[in-house]
Amino acid sequence: MEKTELIGLSKDELAAQIEAIGEKPFRAKQLWQWIYYRGETDFEKMSNLSKDLRAKLAEHFTITRPKIVTEQISSDKTHKWLLEFADGQRIETVYIPEEDRGAVCISTQVGCAVGCRFCHTGSQKITRNLTAGEIVSQFMVARDAYGEWPSPTSETRYLSNIVVMGMGEPLHNPDNVIKALKILSDGEGIAISKRRITLSTSGIAPKIPLVATELGVKLAISLHAPNDEKRSQIMPINDRFCIDEVLKACQKYQDVMGFSRMITFEYLMLKDFNDSPEDAKELIALMKKYKLGAKFNLIPFNPWPGCNYQPSSNNKVHAFSRMLEAAGYEAPIRVARGQDILAACGQLKSKNQ
Ligand code: SF4
Repeated sequence: MEKTELIGLSKDELAAQIEAIGEKPFRAKQLWQWIYYRGETDFEKMSNLSKDLRAKLAEHFTITRPKIVTEQISSDKTHKWLLEFADGQRIETVYIPEEDRGAVCISTQVGCAVGCRFCHTGSQKITRNLTAGEIVSQFMVARDAYGEWPSPTSETRYLSNIVVMGMGEPLHNPDNVIKALKILSDGEGIAISKRRITLSTSGIAPKIPLVATELGVKLAISLHAPNDEKRSQIMPINDRFCIDEVLKACQKYQDVMGFSRMITFEYLMLKDFNDSPEDAKELIALMKKYKLGAKFNLIPFNPWPGCNYQPSSNNKVHAFSRMLEAAGYEAPIRVARGQDILAACGQLKSKNQ
């Protein structure tokens, strides 16, 4: 008999599985806490369950972590795991620590179909979507590494935030991503607050409102250019969903979440491509036109072997930031992290490293 993997089941699905082996539904609640609050993977150690029940659970179910193929820690303490799932497919997960907290950047697909020209991951074709369990278990691997079980209070945990920004386009895999984020934010388990979860998309316009209606987490858009002509050059997805469609979808997100729930626009600073004062002016005009509660995240480009773009100079990045801030938009410059282990934004890749 093939055993059922429990990581990634919703609460209702878990209850149904428990009932199917003849147990009372409240056992599902206990099991949920063992799995997601305590991080336990061994049924035998679930001490408030009877010996018989523990044996029965082990007979029918598994609680699996992906295999850690390699693990690297950069000079700035950024931590990257190359993880392998049961079918041999691999993805990367990164923990980016700040002083007393940090974000785990999780992947949602093996490869990516969007093919942004500046992105290392995008040069690796899409293989498949990750399941909800495979998405959730990346965060669990990180928690294992930092010993954050049982779930610490939100004030004391190092792994405080989640950014859905690793390999893959999350809104090309919305069902599994929604299911996974519901599990990760569930208050009786891992309990990461929705305000500490950010979903970043390349702009799959029809699905963007789901981020508000289904999840209520923060939204980031990879914009990277102030007009369609430039954006299409670096992001072919712009030919499917142009800036107008993306920004209208952002308006729908804010209709549900409120104007004060700022949308972050990611903007990669590429030398002599999108980093001039004219580009900044165009970007500001765009934001004013759509009346969005917006802030920017200016990203210094991390070149990778074989890429065609170069990073903007420091001076230009700072001048760009000052222009946006003068227009009333926060525009911090992201400090590049984990560059020495290719763990920075857009550098993740699971093959041919
Ligand atoms: S930036 Fe994101 S959406 Fe674009 S190719 Fe890379 S992983 Fe895919």
